[in-house]
Amino acid sequence: MGSSSIPNGVEQQKQEKNLAKGAWYDTVDFLNLLLVIIIPIAGCIAAFWTPLYWQTFIFAVGYYFLTGLGVTAGSHRLWSHRSYVASLPLRVFLALVGAGAVEGSIRWWAKGHRVHHRYTDTPKDPYSIKKGLIFAHLGWMILKTDSKEKVRTDISDLDSDGVVVWQHKNYLQLVIIMAFIFPMVIAGLGWNDWMGGLVYAGIIRMFVVQQSNSLSHWLGDQPFDDNHSPRNNLITALVILGEGWHNFHHEFPSDYRAGIEWYQYDPTKWVIWIWEKMGLATNLTEFRQNEIEKGRVQQLQKKVDIQRSQLNWGIPLHDLPVIEWDDYVEQSKNGRQLVSIAGIVHDVSDFIGAHPGGKQIILTAVGKDATAMFNGGVYDHTNAAHNLLSTMRYAVVRGGMEVEAWKRPEDVRVPTDTLGNLIVGPHGQETRQL
Ligand SMILES: [Zn+2]
Ligand SMILES: [Zn+2]
Repeated sequence: MGSSSIPNGVEQQKQEKNLAKGAWYDTVDFLNLLLVIIIPIAGCIAAFWTPLYWQTFIFAVGYYFLTGLGVTAGSHRLWSHRSYVASLPLRVFLALVGAGAVEGSIRWWAKGHRVHHRYTDTPKDPYSIKKGLIFAHLGWMILKTDSKEKVRTDISDLDSDGVVVWQHKNYLQLVIIMAFIFPMVIAGLGWNDWMGGLVYAGIIRMFVVQQSNSLSHWLGDQPFDDNHSPRNNLITALVILGEGWHNFHHEFPSDYRAGIEWYQYDPTKWVIWIWEKMGLATNLTEFRQNEIEKGRVQQLQKKVDIQRSQLNWGIPLHDLPVIEWDDYVEQSKNGRQLVSIAGIVHDVSDFIGAHPGGKQIILTAVGKDATAMFNGGVYDHTNAAHNLLSTMRYAVVRGGMEVEAWKRPEDVRVPTDTLGNLIVGPHGQETRQL
């Protein structure tokens, strides 16, 4: 967890300049350019004169799921986050289909991903959404990062996993076999469609799998935390086998689930669960529900507080002018339509005509202490009535009822929300006397 390699702002600017100034061929990863841009374009062109057979189509969709799982259940949830333990046969399977996804070796992918979680939204985030959607989508695979900007992460666990090391050492051969030769051979031997197997189940399928992660920091809502960019979204979940519930994932990365609700589409989670039933996976990690709900409630609270701040709750008591009782009576006699309830004086002149109980009854309260009358003496007013009354506040009476105590702004009896605004609950209006 050492942070000694964090460069200061000036160094970072220099690095960015160097990257911009340097010869373009120094900054481009040609192998990835070939695999991510050139071969897919060639495949799309070849598709124009390659007929698509229905067997090949079904196989390509199935193989898309398998190779996608190599990344989502393999490189991501198993090797980056250790959210479950996989047996040797399962790890070999994931390493093979993962190579067919052509998103980099497990070792390379998981290392970058650990950096992504640790430095989300900062310049050290290898696929930072702050560098734009195109960079976060494909640019990060094609452009080499300046070596000085590379961040140290602990991947000793990956280096001691024989399957990971083997896949990393033989990555290019495995890519050629798993991404192109294997689907070509299956379609060729199966229903004599060698070319369709290569173009559709090989190249175009690979291209679709590669269009993965970036939208999850761009599109959707944030039910668990909005301090960073990760978002929850069904569309992203549909494209990348359930990885789109990314706001939850960044909060609870060691959870083998990304979509925690039963109705959230997360086939990666379902498959890991099935592997557990088959005895291939163990130790599936679930974050404690209590902690998950805490995050959800805090985020809900934040949204409620924003809504609260947009409403008119009346002038806070401690901001009202203080008047003497005699002054209140005097002003009422001289034509002001003021009503004192619980020591708080309200100007009801704009409301008299709209009073549901009639004009007359409210006029009898002018210039008097109407506390008992308002709180059940004549009619036990609703919460809505107390809320409405608070918007008519005019002054507080010195020594009137117990309001002097409420006038102190440091009063701890009054709860405030995360924005510092008063929380007035359904029975919290000061005019309510039980
Ligand atoms: Zn992310
Ligand atoms: Zn992750």
